[in-house]
Amino acid sequence: MDDRIYNVAIIGYGGMGSYHGQLMESEPQVAVIGVHDIVEYRMELAKAGGHKAYPSLDAVLDDESVDVVLIATPNDVHKEIAIKALQAGKHVICEKPVTITSSDFMDIVEVANQKNRVFTVHQNRRWDEDFRIAKEIIEKKTLGELFHLESRVQGANGIPGDWRQLKAYGGGMLLDWGVHLLDQLLLITDSPIESVAATLSYVLGTEVDDGFTSYIKFKDGLTAFIEVGTTNYVKLPRWYIKGTEGTAVIKDWDLSGEIITRNPEVAHIEPKPIQAGQGLTKTMAPPSEESTLTLPIEKPAPAAQTFYTNFVSVIEGKTEPAVKNEEVHRVLVLIEMIFETAETKSVIHRSI
Ligand code: NAD
Repeated sequence: MDDRIYNVAIIGYGGMGSYHGQLMESEPQVAVIGVHDIVEYRMELAKAGGHKAYPSLDAVLDDESVDVVLIATPNDVHKEIAIKALQAGKHVICEKPVTITSSDFMDIVEVANQKNRVFTVHQNRRWDEDFRIAKEIIEKKTLGELFHLESRVQGANGIPGDWRQLKAYGGGMLLDWGVHLLDQLLLITDSPIESVAATLSYVLGTEVDDGFTSYIKFKDGLTAFIEVGTTNYVKLPRWYIKGTEGTAVIKDWDLSGEIITRNPEVAHIEPKPIQAGQGLTKTMAPPSEESTLTLPIEKPAPAAQTFYTNFVSVIEGKTEPAVKNEEVHRVLVLIEMIFETAETKSVIHRSI
């Protein structure tokens, strides 16, 4: 029997909505059949791309041939669209950040459960190769026991000049990029969080944060430094990972970087002092070449399922969602803690 194809309507056909359209072209079991956007020009683009242009959300929901609603609007309207679509019996994929608060998210999940429909969030950066490499290095204990990691994205172009600069639309970099980096972080360890300290940055004078730095401690002793910046003319590496036996750096999405570990075959070699500035140091001298191993950063094997194939398998009851709603909820609670710690200028000790 041929696999069933699920018809998708995209709500919000801007940058990300149209990107979903492109991505789904190579997906065997999902097909975009139509689009709804509140801006006429975007509807014209959709028509030019061969999609039906629905005049309203209700028109999408009334169309029984639509199986899936994909929400790619600005963040403030995700909730109302998601709830309407679920109530109309559609399965829903929603862009990140799914909602602006964790309680709004639970309202959606409640309706999805009542209606027995699949609701999932497009946390696509779980499929990023840099993240999958970092996770594999940690899981395989290539660096021994993990005790600290730093994960950053930094640009110099400010906040893109639209709704992302406005609070009412759920703008700001913590919600925009923070949600990806924190989502990745919480997949790296099973440990509960012990405390969070953070600062939001307002260098550009917008009403929303143009970046943030956060320091997160886990109960198992792991510490993490998560940072997003939009005013960084020189950027720091995407990942810096420290274990008891070595250190890894993944510089960028191009997967450049290095992994250096202790060589277990060689006993400790006392470093020779080096000239450093106006002094000598042995502490900060590089480890001897014989006592360390330099390992390549290897591209991970292709993921077993794409986001969309997983979504279809979940609808068909064949598998668990790759992005689980309880994971999405935990990330939103962490984001709320970061807003709170930044506002109160205090460290929050709370287990989540
Ligand atoms: P965008 O401004 O380019 O597009 C948003 C579109 O939604 C616009 O065409 C706008 O006219 C339309 N719109 C606004 N309100 C609407 C409504 N009520 N009904 C129908 N259409 C409406 O924004 P974008 O960059 O595409 O971001 C959209 C969503 O995708 C956001 O939630 C954003 O965070 C997310 N996003 C995710 C990723 C990712 O990698 N997962 C990347 C970029 C954006």
